[in-house]
Amino acid sequence: MNKNTDLSFLESVNSSFDLAANALDLPKGLARQIRTCNAVCEMKFGVELDDGYEIFTGWRATHSEHALPAKGGIRYAPFADQHEVEALAALMTYKCSIVNVPFAGSKGALCIDPKKYSLKELEHITRRFAQELDKRGLLGPGVNVPAPDMGTGQRMMSWIADEYQKLHPNEINARACVTGKPVHFGGVQGRIEATGRGVQYGIQEFFRHQDDVKKAGLSGNLEGKKIIVQGLGNVGYHAAKFLEEEDGALIVGIIERDGAILCDRGLCTEDLYQYKLEHGKIEGFSSGSFIEDGERALEQACDILIPAAMEGVITKMNANRIQAKIIAEAANGPVTFDANQILNQRGVFIIPDTYLNAGGVTVSYFEWLKNLSHVRFGRMERRFMEAQGSRIVRLMESTVDQPLDPIVKAELMKGPDEITLVRSGLEDTMCEAYQEIKEMHLSNSKIKDRRTAAFALAIRKVADIYDSMYL
Ligand code: GLU
Repeated sequence: MNKNTDLSFLESVNSSFDLAANALDLPKGLARQIRTCNAVCEMKFGVELDDGYEIFTGWRATHSEHALPAKGGIRYAPFADQHEVEALAALMTYKCSIVNVPFAGSKGALCIDPKKYSLKELEHITRRFAQELDKRGLLGPGVNVPAPDMGTGQRMMSWIADEYQKLHPNEINARACVTGKPVHFGGVQGRIEATGRGVQYGIQEFFRHQDDVKKAGLSGNLEGKKIIVQGLGNVGYHAAKFLEEEDGALIVGIIERDGAILCDRGLCTEDLYQYKLEHGKIEGFSSGSFIEDGERALEQACDILIPAAMEGVITKMNANRIQAKIIAEAANGPVTFDANQILNQRGVFIIPDTYLNAGGVTVSYFEWLKNLSHVRFGRMERRFMEAQGSRIVRLMESTVDQPLDPIVKAELMKGPDEITLVRSGLEDTMCEAYQEIKEMHLSNSKIKDRRTAAFALAIRKVADIYDSMYL
């Protein structure tokens, strides 16, 4: 290997795993069993399109089966390959374990540039892919449940669910074969924003731990903190928008494929997002200055850098030039193993991907539960809670002998709807997992950073399941 190049994505994930496993006291061979990708299936299938037949190559990797179903997104990208899918499937195992979602890890990909196909063609291709997955036992509510990832979204998930339903007309839980569906097709409120929302909750939780904040060389809360976000896709857009609009952070830079917009007094994420939707690029946006070299923008001074685009963007080549105090990994694997070591030495605090971007799969879990229970969250209890709230308000008003503030009153009398419940379940998940990772870090002197602590936590939990299986 060239000494200037980092480990591959899969090697990087496995090296982080090994570092963490070595810090734990595991039965001989167990770490290797957990680390090994159990199965990976490559599929080649022909689809008849307007221009004739085209052959597509796709993969589905099932990293582990210690819990079922196995869970993970499907990526549509021209650069997809088997090793990337295996690395992403492994990350799914670890992230599910960290956030206490009872699934094993899986991931799929189709080697395709979705922009080159019409909607009708994409539907045809996706339905064919679903048939291929189904006939190999790689799709189903109890075995393997895909979700959106890079290049895929709600509409594709509903095609997969519909195809599965047609193939299994007697399966009452058919819709639970995939998550990330539109709400009218069995999806759950808040799934689209979920990964970005989880990033926000994870960073908020970081700021509740003032010892960590101090370690990163910062103080206070998110208000006024300078943030650079790489990627204005689903994850980056929602994370930036929520941090800016709800926490008062300043989005001082947004990096996209064509370059970056930098603005020291803070950008309006929504305006830039709308601009990008309209023009297909960010160049020309009126506030801030545009630079073509997006990689350079990663190295600008800021408090928090949020890589939310893809793997391997912070490597040993640029790690020394990163000026952020915190790197919040919203994408899967944006900081390589080598870069992680350099950044740790330099005292940059990394909130690791296996934790920080687990909001998507957490809300997928809620969607799956909703599909299996066949009832929307809050349906049974909302009126009941509202009646209870009214009773409390009446009691309080009669005790103090004056009406309560109308806003407080309305809040007390509001029963929870689905979006409120989903957000509160996600927030609780992110807060709890942060603390578990921190405890793992502080209780084991062999663990030097949060990524290793997150991996160690995941390995510990999976190892415990193996342990009880083989008792
Ligand atoms: N693709 C997302 C991820 O990488 C979501 C996976 C899921 O919801 O199953 O975490």
